[in-house]
Amino acid sequence: SGKLYLVPTPIGNLDDITIRAKKVLTNADYIAAEDTRTSGILLEKIGVHNRMLSFHKYNSKERAPELIKLMQDGVTIAEISDAGMPVISDPGYILVEDCIKHDIPVVPLPGPSAFATALIGSGFDAQPFTYYGFLPRKQSEQKPYFEEMNKAKATSIFYEAPHRLVKTLKNMAQVFPADRKIVAARELTKIHEEFIRGTVAELNSYFAKTKPRGEFVILVSANTEKPKQLAWPELIQLVNNVVKQG
Ligand code: SAM
Repeated sequence: SGKLYLVPTPIGNLDDITIRAKKVLTNADYIAAEDTRTSGILLEKIGVHNRMLSFHKYNSKERAPELIKLMQDGVTIAEISDAGMPVISDPGYILVEDCIKHDIPVVPLPGPSAFATALIGSGFDAQPFTYYGFLPRKQSEQKPYFEEMNKAKATSIFYEAPHRLVKTLKNMAQVFPADRKIVAARELTKIHEEFIRGTVAELNSYFAKTKPRGEFVILVSANTEKPKQLAWPELIQLVNNVVKQG
């Protein structure tokens, strides 16, 4: 049978396309792209000329069986998204799941992804971490996520659109203690790449003055509070009480 290759593409800097990605994109029978126009421009720039099929979140349900049929007939498909890794906050998951169901080999290629790039530059511990993708937009729906991140002993990572960032940071300030460390990683691999580091309060005042522009990854440091330890007098009191009651 054919195969499905999952091919990461640059998240900004075109030099981040890998040699292997270029080879796979050139040699595949088809490139399944989220947006054939956007990807057409990218492929032209990196010197790949190949046939394209459209595969995005709105047609993936109908499209997946057609692509499966092609691969069962021996066709090799390289799947790409608009930027970074397919499947990571992008389409692809359904197709991978279907390939596995139908015993079609899936070959994922390593390469750029915004969350991993942001994480390694954040200065936060990368083990463990939780990746949330995009959070819901409403404050009431974001709150439980922030409460979970606030307690978490892991670094939390999520994506946010620039026009929603100010509001999201305000919502964060309602849940996190003022000294909790966060990082906004902006325009990674691009000319205006920037890491804005500080407390929730500091980032709130920064973005009140500087309008968020470009693409953002937000990271929240792990909760490092130690569980409260009892002092000796408290401990003795506790034991005495237990003995008395016993
Ligand atoms: N598949 C992509 C990946 O592997 O990272 C993610 C696609 S998702 C639809 C797009 C979001 O990723 C953006 O809204 C932004 O939050 C984040 N992103 C993508 N490129 C970025 C970059 N160069 N710098 C910062 N964030 C980026």
